[in-house]
Amino acid sequence: MKFDSPLRSSTTADLPVLPAARIAGRDVHACDAAGRSAICNAATGATIAWQDTASAAQIDEAVRAARASFEAWRATAAALRSAILHKVAECVEAQRARLVDVQMHVSGKPRAEAETDVSDVAATFTYYADLCNEAAAFSTEAVVVPDASVAAERFYDPVGVAALIVPWNFPMVTSAWKIAPALAAGCTVVLKPSELTSPAEHALVDLLAQAGVPNGVVNVVNGGAEVGARLTTHPLVDKISFTGSTAAGRHVMRAAADDMKRLTLELGGKSALIVREDADFDLAVSLAVGGAFTNAGQMCSATSRILVHDRLYRKFMAAFETAVRALVVASPQTSNATMGPLISRAHRMRVQALVERGLETGARVAFHGQIAARADDGFFMAPVVVAEPAVDNPLWTDEVFGPVACVKSFRSDADAIALANDTRYGLVATVVTQCEEMARRYRQQLRAGLVWHNTPQFIFAQVSWGGFGLSGIGRELGLAGLRSYQELRHTITLAGC
Ligand code: NAD
Repeated sequence: MKFDSPLRSSTTADLPVLPAARIAGRDVHACDAAGRSAICNAATGATIAWQDTASAAQIDEAVRAARASFEAWRATAAALRSAILHKVAECVEAQRARLVDVQMHVSGKPRAEAETDVSDVAATFTYYADLCNEAAAFSTEAVVVPDASVAAERFYDPVGVAALIVPWNFPMVTSAWKIAPALAAGCTVVLKPSELTSPAEHALVDLLAQAGVPNGVVNVVNGGAEVGARLTTHPLVDKISFTGSTAAGRHVMRAAADDMKRLTLELGGKSALIVREDADFDLAVSLAVGGAFTNAGQMCSATSRILVHDRLYRKFMAAFETAVRALVVASPQTSNATMGPLISRAHRMRVQALVERGLETGARVAFHGQIAARADDGFFMAPVVVAEPAVDNPLWTDEVFGPVACVKSFRSDADAIALANDTRYGLVATVVTQCEEMARRYRQQLRAGLVWHNTPQFIFAQVSWGGFGLSGIGRELGLAGLRSYQELRHTITLAGC
């Protein structure tokens, strides 16, 4: 059954049941309801669908379907793969309203955020469709070697069957970042969405089929961590691309070790936003709000450690408070909503527990925002801003993954850079300054996979994404994203043969 009625919220008995798996184009359900999980509307708390869990046999079948489709898909001309990926982007645009709706009704994202996600999905498929037509991405290249008696060549081969495991915060986007380059490279895939947001992926996978992706090239298995874990140990999986927490990433890395599966890990973050004394003040406040509270702070790239020059600190805190209090934390049905709920009751409890632990160990709440409308039992949480936490306070050191920001003052650029880099993560950073020379210094010295200067968190499919340290291994998007689904191969041949 397809999840095509996201607005339904009647009695649980007649709710849609999402399949346990999609294997070679067929939806496969579980034999019984054991292990079936509820999918909630995060803005109301209501159950809106059920999700069957894939069995071990179904996971195996899905991987085998991907394996069986691999040779034909890798042999498909890059130009045809390009045409299909372009068609996916067209289908995404044509179905924009439905895709936006699904995200609003599952994750509770405000309309503007749900729209941005859909634009990102379309842009990702378009970019990799175009890359398919760039000869250098695939074609055989001569390699110059200092021996005229031989000819050396370089090839890029698809890595094989890729297991794609994604979280719930940007479900459709994260899936597109993996599916598009994998298909462009000639890989076949088994996707494991988060059990909390799988309707988003079901909607996307429907469009892949419509666009002409052959059956078996993209397969889906549904369920939680145990389904992901089983997928990562399947011997026919050649590559794992995992996005999620650093804790789960460690398990995935261990699981990949036995077969030396290729690995991309996109993990957590604890990123900094630095406001220099010469910053455009209004811009700094708006970037601080966006960096910490977009998607209710449930962003790996949340810049939840805000560093402000001490001569600007008091003025900044006053303006930041006004801006945070102005956030409209409400259901996406509220037309002026600017911040949605957290994804689940359990996640909200986790975030609240982290805040309590931070306060118990000395942190101080400077102010918080408010929930505009609590019409129902959605998983809303008011934004929280903590002032001057100690550098070992968990709110300063640990990923919270919710609407909690810490602000700390600094006196010199050297202090700011040291504080920003004082983390085992290294995903992103933002610097707000009007001094070009200092901006260059920050861009060079901040240890993060992507540094923004005076911009919101712009993401382009052309610009690779990924982090240092505990934020992961490898890069998605850009040419690096394609290469992560390719094996590099060389040949050396006696000249004239
Ligand atoms: P999570 O690690 O709990 O789960 C992520 C996905 O992995 C889910 O599909 C889950 O079912 C699966 N999973 C969990 N344990 C597994 C295991 N042992 N083996 C295989 N699969 C397993 O994370 P989450 O709560 O869904 O998402 C939040 C986390 O994701 C945050 O830490 C966030 O920073 C991170 N994230 C990172 C990026 C990035 O690009 N770096 C992007 C989005 C989210």
